Amino acid sequence: MTSPADKDSLKPSNFLRQVIDRDLAQGTYAGRHWAGHPADAATHQAGQPDPARIRTRFPPEPNGYLHVGHAKSICLNFGLARDYGGVCHMRFDDTNPEKEEQEYVDSIKDAVRWLGFSWDANGTSHLYQASDYFDFMYRAAEYLIQAGLAYVDEQTPEAMRASRGDFGKPGVDSPFRTRSVDENLARLREMRAGKLPDGAAVLRAKIDMASPNINMRDPALYRIKHEAHHHTGDAWCIYPMYTYAHPIEDALENITHSLCTLEFEDQRPFYDWLLDRLREGGLINTPQPRQYEFARLNLTYVITSKRKLKALVDEGHVGGWDDPRMPTIAGLRRRGYTPESLQLFSERIGVSKANGWIDFSILEAALRDDLDPKAARAMAVLDPVKLVIENWGEVMGSDDKLDECTAPVHPHDESRGRRKFMFGRELWIERSDYEETPPKGFFRLFPGNKVRLKYGHVVECIGATRNAATGEIETVRARLVPDTKSGTPGADAVKVKGNISWVGVADGIKAEVRLYDRLFSVAQPDTTEGRDWREELNPESLKVVTAYLEPSLASAKGDEKFQFERHGYFVADRKEHAGGKPVFNRITGLKDSYGK
Ligand code: ATP
Ligand code: MG
Repeated sequence: MTSPADKDSLKPSNFLRQVIDRDLAQGTYAGRHWAGHPADAATHQAGQPDPARIRTRFPPEPNGYLHVGHAKSICLNFGLARDYGGVCHMRFDDTNPEKEEQEYVDSIKDAVRWLGFSWDANGTSHLYQASDYFDFMYRAAEYLIQAGLAYVDEQTPEAMRASRGDFGKPGVDSPFRTRSVDENLARLREMRAGKLPDGAAVLRAKIDMASPNINMRDPALYRIKHEAHHHTGDAWCIYPMYTYAHPIEDALENITHSLCTLEFEDQRPFYDWLLDRLREGGLINTPQPRQYEFARLNLTYVITSKRKLKALVDEGHVGGWDDPRMPTIAGLRRRGYTPESLQLFSERIGVSKANGWIDFSILEAALRDDLDPKAARAMAVLDPVKLVIENWGEVMGSDDKLDECTAPVHPHDESRGRRKFMFGRELWIERSDYEETPPKGFFRLFPGNKVRLKYGHVVECIGATRNAATGEIETVRARLVPDTKSGTPGADAVKVKGNISWVGVADGIKAEVRLYDRLFSVAQPDTTEGRDWREELNPESLKVVTAYLEPSLASAKGDEKFQFERHGYFVADRKEHAGGKPVFNRITGLKDSYGK
């Protein structure tokens, strides 16, 4: 791993890096102690000096698969921790007593690890779940009551909503706001003991019903929910609200920089209010965490709402969470995206304070930039038609004669060796490489024209035969121009303008190739009033073809990426590709062709 200093010099600065630079320069967190695990103030203070210079966290709710927006958040949080000698915690935010699906938990861990990050640092696994903090959260709630900072409100939910006021209208104090500490404490304990039904009462912070920030108008801290929790079972029938739980989770874990998306900006005053009060009460470690907001990722042609991604799967618009058209990390991975390309993408888009749309072509460019120097080259014919070289036997001595041709595995790295494939009387070429009457500027096969079959010989086209019934071209006919084989002396004596790719009929491999395109056909799906996002699905997002591939691809392993010359980047499908039944996915074309 490169040292923090090396990394810093490579990365463009941004407002978060400036905040961290300033905190490190001022030693804001230098004197902090760490218990070795999440803990309250006293336990942390009895621990060692914190070995982490900063602590960040990635806190998904385990209720779905992660998507490309989460990838940005993962790269940001784990990337900053890595670059600054810090630690990033992996935290499952499971404070809702909803059924947790192990499938989601596993897929989330898998996605973070695949992206190249780890929550192991300084000999500790920083893998946490928020429900482990329920005891502390409850203790903090009793503390707030005792300090006169919280009360049990028994208004009906409707009355509570009405008394909250709105943007232009201050709220009205609840009649329960002036209850005594003892009464509040007794009532909270009854709530906890299960004596009250769902919705009968909530615990609220006592702040200011006239605050211009509605989030500060006595926000709810706890609600009653008689539901078992996947982890704590029946221990609780009251559960903390997200806005109450999240700051506490950060504080117990000694988080220094709590990064979240802009929607939470209005929650920051409450985040600070709560942690200020708990710090004053000596409950949480100091200095306390700070929240910083950045713009969430909106990517053109992509939807990232978990609920809608689930609908895509449940309604069968795609084949599953890891369908190569899905913007989930599992889908991107199967499509052929690499961890490096997603990291590069995250670095390039950076972080900003303003919401906007990032063009999908930036993601594809990052993939190309990552794969171009790495991916082995190969020839492939995706829409095959046969080319027959009629004088082959005459020139070569026999119609069955095969002539070995070679090409570099990588054009800029001869050390990677050469691929071999056989030229013969019959070759597969792209249907679009033949035109009976060539349009202006067409230099490939048409009667009377000469082209080079890449890495092979020059041929002259003499026409084509058509299927009598359909009129479709069945074979393209040509004659070999002798002494023109690539790499042999005098090969260039015959000048040609066209250079086409091909695969030998004798040694080509038949394969299923899945030509993926964008899942949505509009740039900003789900943003047009009155139009259902389902109507915006691209009906051509998947086209499956039977292709021929050069024989070097016979040894391709699932997940291995290639550049198919002229066509783009392809990956052997990690689930369905097999030696005897090759399946390749198109990741992206060679150039950005969208919206042009
Ligand atoms: P939901 O609220 O529907 O469960 P979510 O996308 O907010 O969905 P979380 O599991 O809460 O999902 O997200 C985990 C982390 O990922 C949060 O810190 C959140 O800010 C971040 N995140 C989610 N979506 C994006 C996005 N599009 N761009 C950047 N960060 C995101
Ligand atoms: Mg969320």
